[in-house]
Amino acid sequence: MTLQCHGLRRQFGALKAVDDVSLAVSDGARHALIGPNGAGKSTLFKLITGLLRSDGGRVELAGQDVTKASEVRRCRLGISQTLQHASLFPTMSAAENVVLAVQRHESRISWLPRRQRSVHDRAALLLDQVGLASRGSVTVSSLSHGERKQLEVALALACRPKLLLLDEPAAGMSAAERARLVTLIAGLPSEITVLFVEHDLDLVFELADTVTVLNLGRVLLSGEPSEVRASEEVRQAYLGA
Ligand code: ADP
Ligand code: MG
Repeated sequence: MTLQCHGLRRQFGALKAVDDVSLAVSDGARHALIGPNGAGKSTLFKLITGLLRSDGGRVELAGQDVTKASEVRRCRLGISQTLQHASLFPTMSAAENVVLAVQRHESRISWLPRRQRSVHDRAALLLDQVGLASRGSVTVSSLSHGERKQLEVALALACRPKLLLLDEPAAGMSAAERARLVTLIAGLPSEITVLFVEHDLDLVFELADTVTVLNLGRVLLSGEPSEVRASEEVRQAYLGA
């Protein structure tokens, strides 16, 4: 699903967190959003999902203007995100968390009660998809940090997204966990367009076909990874952070 942002703006008091941002994400893309802390990446995500209202500009999903659409409506259109600080239920098992997410999604798209069986089958499939097939019965608080992040991706996939937004999916992960995450994201079907925020540039350049650099709420550069890697301006924005 394509995503287009035109001149998006959002202020917090006097601070222009997102300042006239235009962004085009093409269908099936693996599009990375990078930039120093405070650049406005998470705020931009929230404007895209509808978690935050914009002060100006436009968001289009698959060519449809959703600027005024609620978060639930955008979710129904196929947008899903993992939050930087996601809320898993720590005392429940990994599988129970996924079951809840599947049930929540199904109750949003249909009033008809689903067979418990199909919900559990789907949850098992999702756990498998993120590499947690053997960890379903484990309580969330007993999962490793990396496994919890994998579980968050499973929750985001529960609503069958066409556009998946991942905010720092690899934050705090070990090298082995990061490698697993790369496999997971690279293995997602191409019907799912992915826009992700990531600080680990090795991971960005491994996964992304397009990279957009945000700095002080503005787009510094958008292009192929090789272009961005070669940019002196980008280097300076990072070093100056
Ligand atoms: P990033 O994700 O790139 O690190 P954020 O989008 O989280 O950046 O934040 C951009 C700027 O907006 C930061 O200066 C941050 O402190 C500020 N900010 C973000 N959310 C809020 C909020 N709810 N209220 C006030 N300021 C905020
Ligand atoms: Mg952030």
